[in-house]
Amino acid sequence: MLKAVLFDLDNTLVLFDEPAFYERYFARICRSFSDIFPPEEFRNRVLRATMALCRSSGEVSNLRFFLDVFTEGCEQPITEIWRRFMKFYEDEYDRIEVEVKAPSGLHDGISWLHQRGLKLVVASNPIFPLTVQQKRMAWAGIDRFRFDLVTHIENMSFVKPRLEYYLQICEKIDAAPEECLMVGNDPINDMVAGATGMKTYLTTEVGEIDYSSLRLTVDEERAPLSIPEPDFSGPLADVTRVVRKLCG
Ligand SMILES: [Mg+2]
Repeated sequence: MLKAVLFDLDNTLVLFDEPAFYERYFARICRSFSDIFPPEEFRNRVLRATMALCRSSGEVSNLRFFLDVFTEGCEQPITEIWRRFMKFYEDEYDRIEVEVKAPSGLHDGISWLHQRGLKLVVASNPIFPLTVQQKRMAWAGIDRFRFDLVTHIENMSFVKPRLEYYLQICEKIDAAPEECLMVGNDPINDMVAGATGMKTYLTTEVGEIDYSSLRLTVDEERAPLSIPEPDFSGPLADVTRVVRKLCG
């Protein structure tokens, strides 16, 4: 029996040119740190710390793990560094230029799922604080209070495409993987959820986009990930049809 539907956020619930957006994001945020790090060093620290998250043992939050790696060999206190990030997210993030579209059927679909009493999760890669996840949700007018859980850097201790990320969500919403449907546009980061026993739905709005600058690199020396084929695929608007079928 289906109990919960998990949605990726970027290019699943809200459509935009991710690589172009993150280029502009880096250009701006580098300036906020320019008295501490040269731009190139800042960017490298962010990328190194973000990629390191893939190897976390899950003992601390993603935030703690990220900051420990980000601040290696740096004299500034960790608290000051994070205060800077948060100030940027509060004051500057909204000024980054972005063109956004909501996928068709978004709001009706979410309302319908909500009314059916299903638990709803925004399963966005938890590498940003809640305020940033909410700002991107707001781009498409998504009401955070329809969701039982929004994953973010402070409430999770794993990232995609780790299976532990999906299992941690199950624990938080008290559902077994077999009772969940994961909906997302990313054939690796989102569809890997199938390996936990979750049903998966690959959305097709975006088609082929180059995510190479964004995907957290999977360490190739580790066991290669085996990604199950998606159980379903189609536009976001058809998720309700699949849910109807899964609910019997
Ligand atoms: Mg995505």
